Amino acid sequence: MDQKFNYDEKMKRFILIVDDEFVNREILGGVLEEEYNLYFAEDGEVAMNILKENKKTISLVLLDLKMPKLNGFEVIKLMKADSMLKKIPIIVLTSEKEAEVESLKLGASDFITKPYDMPEIIITRVKRLIELSEDRLIIKSAERDELTGLYSKTFFYEYAHIMNKFKPDSKMDALVFDIDHFHLINEIYGRNFGDDVLKKLAQILKDYAAKLEGLAGRGEADIFFLYVNHLDDYNDLENTIQKELLDVYKGNNIHIRIGVCEKTSDIKNIEQLCDRAKLACNTIRGKFQKRLAYFDEDLKQKTFFNERLIHDMHDGLEKKQFVAFYQPKYEVYEGEPVLKGAEALVRWNHPDFGLVSPGAFISLFEENGLIQLVDNYIWKETARQLKKWKKAFKTNISVSVNVSRIDIYDPDIEKKLIKIIKDNGLDIKDFHIEITESAYADNAKQLIRVVEGFRQAGFIIEMDDFGTGYSALNMLSSLPIDILKLDMQFVKTMLEDEKNLRMVEIVMDIARLLDVPVVAEGVETKEQLDKLIEMGCHMVQGYYFSKPVAADEFEKFLKETKNADDSFFKRIWRRR
Ligand code: C2E
Ligand code: CA
Ligand code: CA
Repeated sequence: MDQKFNYDEKMKRFILIVDDEFVNREILGGVLEEEYNLYFAEDGEVAMNILKENKKTISLVLLDLKMPKLNGFEVIKLMKADSMLKKIPIIVLTSEKEAEVESLKLGASDFITKPYDMPEIIITRVKRLIELSEDRLIIKSAERDELTGLYSKTFFYEYAHIMNKFKPDSKMDALVFDIDHFHLINEIYGRNFGDDVLKKLAQILKDYAAKLEGLAGRGEADIFFLYVNHLDDYNDLENTIQKELLDVYKGNNIHIRIGVCEKTSDIKNIEQLCDRAKLACNTIRGKFQKRLAYFDEDLKQKTFFNERLIHDMHDGLEKKQFVAFYQPKYEVYEGEPVLKGAEALVRWNHPDFGLVSPGAFISLFEENGLIQLVDNYIWKETARQLKKWKKAFKTNISVSVNVSRIDIYDPDIEKKLIKIIKDNGLDIKDFHIEITESAYADNAKQLIRVVEGFRQAGFIIEMDDFGTGYSALNMLSSLPIDILKLDMQFVKTMLEDEKNLRMVEIVMDIARLLDVPVVAEGVETKEQLDKLIEMGCHMVQGYYFSKPVAADEFEKFLKETKNADDSFFKRIWRRR
């Protein structure tokens, strides 16, 4: 909370001096005129007029009590009834003890007794009071979120800490609220509507916090917090929120997710408690039938596991625990399947957890900004391996590496990849780049920029997981790619019913239209393979041929395949 006074300190403040006696106005004016801009009023009415015209600029009022027309008490009352004027501090000028008490009760901040003290004392008191009130205003504006009036995140945490200090042993819960697809609500119905929804939810939470003697706060955008006395069950709250929102926004299906975490002795602070409630909240993202999730034992274990992975990653890279496995890609277009390439897939040989698959850590490392380190490592590792194979087996296969959706924000990514290739004496065409389709939804412009750069440098781009995102069609018209990788999910279900098969046919048609070959992923059976060949699929990758295997095991494919070459990809490249 170390909010520092940040108004311009040198700026001359405005002070209003109100006194019906000319001499008094003269004396005070003389004392203050050097450091302040001054207004003078000879009675309460004039004072009120000056105040109303200068609400925003006056920093302090020096106020006599006994005056004609409106007296000082009445001026205080009027000022306190006005939302702007009530923030201006008042120093009462008086010689009577009783009047002092009375005016302080009404809301004056301080008093100066007549006959007047030494000038230094008056100046110091005036200065101190102005500083205090400005500091308070700054804190107040940071304390509350402007839109909803709830505590801002920083102050929510701060006051929760204070609550814990006073009631260290009471059972408490943190709740985190998140509105599903809030950006869509803003886009479709407009910002004002979005603001309305936020205010409505804030109001419900404020009432609830008051009922449970707790705090309500707002985090970023559509994230809200509660810190309240423990309840075994929040179904009531969930129902209230859903019902009240439905009452107001009938047609619009607004879906709020709630995550709950109970304060336990192993939790270090309120931030961690809220983080855990947020984790619980995230587990039900996209699950529309569920609105409430608790940070339970399972999630706790998973969180510990994730924390371990994050903690151990640097060490793991240093000790070469990360390895690339290789899964062969076969050309199936004409005649017998022929090995044409491989995809490098990372594995982590963790000392305690054994072989950890990328499903456990890729998205975790993406969220925590660590993925680039792992990817760079795997790219280098793959290049080194390919160099070895080229030498030992005289092979011309190409290997593809995965480029994370996060990697594309690295301004040096192209340089890095080219350097790796040069360092290992490889050709740019030996090294394909797989980029997941969903990166397009994150930031289409950025992806297009990066992919265009890659292609100009000569890289072949494979669009990974094609068909899983929402972006498929408009993406294809704006993004230059060389190969489509049909997502595994299509292959898995294609023989289950006609509709699914038709989907694959459509993807094949699109590919034909764009004149790009298709790699089908996750092919496990002969039936799938035959059907895909029949539909004109060019390349196949899947357990039917092989699982991803360690480098030395992959060598058996290289030995088996006498004519492994890059003719297939050469054709693609020539066509550009
Ligand atoms: P992906 O790029 O779509 O890779 C294909 C995944 O499908 C691999 O899972 C592979 O083992 C699996 N797979 C291949 N054939 C079959 C099959 O016939 N049946 C089944 N059920 N599965 C099959 P893996 O290795 O667990 O990798 C999962 C995902 O992790 C990858 O999906 C990729 O998105 C990501 N990934 C893997 N390695 C890296 C890497 O080095 N960097 C980055 N950024 N991501 C990586
Ligand atoms: Ca891939
Ligand atoms: Ca894929």
